[in-house]
Amino acid sequence: MVLSKNTAVQLLEMLRQGASNSREVTAAFVDAIEVNDPKIRSFVRWDKKSALQTADNIDVARDAGENIGPLGGLPVAIKDVLCTTDDVTSCGSKMLAEYRSPYDATVVRRLKEAGAVLIGKTNMDEFAMGCSTENSAFHPTLNPWDHERIPGGSSGGAAACVAANMVPLSIGSDTGGSIRQPACHCGVVGLKPTYGRVSRFGLVAFGSSLDCVGPMGRTVEDVALLLSVIAGNDPADATSIDQEVPDYQSEIKKDLGALRIGVVEEHFGEGIDTEVKKNVENAIGVFKEMGATVQSVTLPHSRYAIAAYYIIASSEASSNLARYDGAHYGFRAENSSNASLDEMYCDTRQQGFGPEVKRRIMLGTYALSAGYYDAYYLKALRVRRLIANDFKKAFEDVDLLIGPVTPTPAFRLGEKTEDPLAMYLEDSYTVGANLSGIPALSLPCGFTDGGLPIGVQLQGPALAEPQLLRAAHAYQQRTDWHHKTP
Ligand code: GLN
Repeated sequence: MVLSKNTAVQLLEMLRQGASNSREVTAAFVDAIEVNDPKIRSFVRWDKKSALQTADNIDVARDAGENIGPLGGLPVAIKDVLCTTDDVTSCGSKMLAEYRSPYDATVVRRLKEAGAVLIGKTNMDEFAMGCSTENSAFHPTLNPWDHERIPGGSSGGAAACVAANMVPLSIGSDTGGSIRQPACHCGVVGLKPTYGRVSRFGLVAFGSSLDCVGPMGRTVEDVALLLSVIAGNDPADATSIDQEVPDYQSEIKKDLGALRIGVVEEHFGEGIDTEVKKNVENAIGVFKEMGATVQSVTLPHSRYAIAAYYIIASSEASSNLARYDGAHYGFRAENSSNASLDEMYCDTRQQGFGPEVKRRIMLGTYALSAGYYDAYYLKALRVRRLIANDFKKAFEDVDLLIGPVTPTPAFRLGEKTEDPLAMYLEDSYTVGANLSGIPALSLPCGFTDGGLPIGVQLQGPALAEPQLLRAAHAYQQRTDWHHKTP
């Protein structure tokens, strides 16, 4: 079998047994990138020489009997929203196209300490705003299953490179669905952890009360492995949860027990594609066969979720992105030396940001402005509370919620770029978890007749990652959607 087709867990076993070494494994993925990425374009930058050098160093350390860490020599791709010292961190934006961070994000530091070979940075919608990776200032990324379609977003590059076997593992970020939605469209597993479970330190901020960093892989086992490495308390992130990290890899192998699953009624209504609906219903059937009891559950305020999310996320973005003024970070408008300070700010922001980012900044600034703060921002915060209460109430009766990840399968490139609202509705089923801070996972559960992957979403109460991953792992033991490759 081609080395790059193995899962992370399989590769680690081979490395442990001495059947392969990090050099050989990394070289196999480097080859896969060289063959596939000129077409897919999941990476914005990647470094063959440095990846192979890191792999060699790890091999030397392993041979010398040193502890090389739980990822010992496996390649991992990083979404370009996380700061890395040895590379540019562009966040998909012209504004940061040449920005070099003076520090590593905590997640990046943990990966390095765990022996990961950081192979490159993946493409994304500018500042993680989007659902298709078409908002990248650099280039679009193609869906590995159909090159005329989007891979999802904003972590489109991170999902596509895993789906196309260019890396076994990648890191994404999720503010309103940006890990789960691309995972769904590319046929891989993506987990948005509980807010605060994984450090945000060194994650370029979008909506700080919603932003989460999380793992992507082809199997639940691989995602559990990666989560074990990146999760944990971080004094550098004030919102980080100070609780011990479970051993997710052994947690997922435990018995499912008497699992109670709730089917989210509101997520099967207007707007859902018939093939998505059918495949998600089939997945629910599989859980029933595994002995789960399934009941219908209602989240009455979910129809306000998109409105609340786009007000809150944009408001926080308008504040977070104020720092890009040409003086502090990255890009400054050309010929600004003769301009006044105000002109320099305006020209820099006019030239440095793309249209979607500008739209969010204006939306957020409006919602926060003196006359409208109560009517929009404050009201959205109240709705957020009601949405979180809906979930809390649902989890009194069931352990997990199940439903679709997105209303439709991957759409065509360009199909929604002229219609922001249609694009925003892509997030209808995913934003609830971010507004409530709960963990949620996207899992491949079938294909359309045209061969596009479909995903099912599992959501659980705060810190229920072990239960979520256990249920998802059990599902993968009984199905083989995750074995299919483009
Ligand atoms: N698609 C959503 C947005 O554009 C979510 C993005 C994200 O999770 N980063 O805001």
